[in-house]
Amino acid sequence: MTVTTDLVSYEDALSAYDPVMGLEVHVELGTKTKMFCGCSTELGQDANTQTCPTCLGLPGALPVVNEIGVESAIKIGLALNCEIAEWCRFARKNYFYPDMPKNFQTSQYDEPIAFNGYLDVQLEDGEIFRVEIERAHMEEDTGKSTHVGGATGRIQGASHSLLDYNRAGIPLIEIVTKPIEGAGERAPEVAKAYVAELREVIKALGVSEARMDKGQMRCDVNLSLRPHGREEFGTRSETKNVNSLRSVERAARFEIQRHAAVLNSGGTIVQETRHFHEEDGSTTSGRIKDNAEDYRYFPEPDLVPVAPAREWVEELRAGLPEMPRVRRNRLREEWGVNEHDMQSILNAGAVDSIVATIEAGADSASARKWWMGELARNANETGRAIDELPMTPAQVARVTALVASGDLNDKLARQVIEGVLAGEGGPDEVVEKRGLKVVSDDGALGAAVDEAIAANTAIADKIRGGKVAAAGALVGAVMKTTRGQADAARVRELILEKLGVEG
Ligand SMILES: [Zn+2]
Repeated sequence: MTVTTDLVSYEDALSAYDPVMGLEVHVELGTKTKMFCGCSTELGQDANTQTCPTCLGLPGALPVVNEIGVESAIKIGLALNCEIAEWCRFARKNYFYPDMPKNFQTSQYDEPIAFNGYLDVQLEDGEIFRVEIERAHMEEDTGKSTHVGGATGRIQGASHSLLDYNRAGIPLIEIVTKPIEGAGERAPEVAKAYVAELREVIKALGVSEARMDKGQMRCDVNLSLRPHGREEFGTRSETKNVNSLRSVERAARFEIQRHAAVLNSGGTIVQETRHFHEEDGSTTSGRIKDNAEDYRYFPEPDLVPVAPAREWVEELRAGLPEMPRVRRNRLREEWGVNEHDMQSILNAGAVDSIVATIEAGADSASARKWWMGELARNANETGRAIDELPMTPAQVARVTALVASGDLNDKLARQVIEGVLAGEGGPDEVVEKRGLKVVSDDGALGAAVDEAIAANTAIADKIRGGKVAAAGALVGAVMKTTRGQADAARVRELILEKLGVEG
């Protein structure tokens, strides 16, 4: 599909307008069972095998709230500095859609479990930007439709659709920000940093893996522009289901440029949902949405209100893990790295691997060096996340120990890592199989040194004549014949010894 959309340059858009954003993030909880029934939430099973009368919406079926779902929602609320409702209810959000067999979604409306919080996010230059949170509420996911027979997989042109209700009823937490104002040209960066930080918080809480590539976390980006100096918000567009950090940033940027073009030409922004396109970073019109959209919300009569005891809430608060930003600052100081290097480590997704490698006995500099060097490069080349590489932190720690003891030099250590990643076994096995050991044994080295001297008589004469610096060439020759496995310092000593010169 080619859609030509007029854009103005980003700089021109920002010179005339202030962007205001609202971010709505859906997080799929990692509970074992669904939000209102005991069906399994395991992904990848045969269609409609994980369903029951409740999540199929059959008449007369009664839902029961998943306690872990509520607990996870409270933890998220607390981590986002929210107030936790003393009493709240679920509500029916009525609409018809084939993947919603009850004809309503069980959600929360005017009584969310958590509200009025904030999340501080750190921008690339180290500045802290506070994003205020309007609410976090509990709801359930829908089933999944697959449109078959058309060229595009969209409903248009399809001959029929398949419905899988395995996902129907999986617990979701929707986290909604208050309008984000004052970010100016950094609005797209703030959006990305917010979603990134939120993802870290969710992961730290252990309530979801929050994998955006697996749809466990997705973001709707609401954006509007208003001329500088005006209080009133402009009309917003809502770009739905953006599923990577980079895309969140690109979607916000594109919408700023598109809105500015429409406004500059005297047009009006249509309040609508929009689709984001990964290929070129553009958005296209979805469905028109006006404020009067009426879901006829009403309190869910089949579920009792949720009234979390204060003691329970305080217990959960006391049990919160160290928050990611606090932890990052602590590690940065412990490791003695600057903001920029810490950011690179974060971007590479290597923090946890480095921490685990240090816990397995490596010093922090070596742990960082290998994870940010060989391993990050391999992850990049093979398109894998760094923590999905087939090498454990304990194995990396073992490599650093072999380097520290002089059994390996850096060059050999790289080959060991390469072998482990290639599935040749653990570090010791690879060392054994490939015969990768630093040779420092004088007997073996002596022969190689003699050979190098015999083959380079002119250089040897120079060294005898006092040009000690020329020894480097002979060391190089020995390293070559020993395929890099010689102990270079010892080789140099032997050369000088044999040629009768003082080092
Ligand atoms: Zn069920």
